Amino acid sequence: MKEKNQIYKCPVCGYLLSEISSEIPDHCPGCLSGIHETDAEGEVCGGMLEPVGIWVKGDESFEIIQRCRLCGEMTSVEMTEKDSRIKVLSIASKPLSSPPFPVERLEELTRIMGGSGELPK
Ligand SMILES: [Zn+2]
Ligand SMILES: [Zn+2]
Repeated sequence: MKEKNQIYKCPVCGYLLSEISSEIPDHCPGCLSGIHETDAEGEVCGGMLEPVGIWVKGDESFEIIQRCRLCGEMTSVEMTEKDSRIKVLSIASKPLSSPPFPVERLEELTRIMGGSGELPK
């Protein structure tokens, strides 16, 4: 388990989060990247989770879709208030003509999301 009140430093962009109230974020508010600690089967990975898209689950609910650079697994994390809106927008506005992930994996994604929500069109 992660210790509470420890300072979070993003290994990707160096974003420093010094005011941790209760918990370490599961992704960096600055670049929206994270560390893939364990994969779906519970194996330790340690790869970098790269933000590849924004998942709109409902009116008020957004999730960041991340893909692990090491193992290619896709996951999603809930967006937080601290997240950089500029970064979020830049990811959300990526041209859909060049999807950041293979189209054939959309089905898998839908499964991860529990079949709810739609990809932004
Ligand atoms: Zn970062
Ligand atoms: Zn991984």
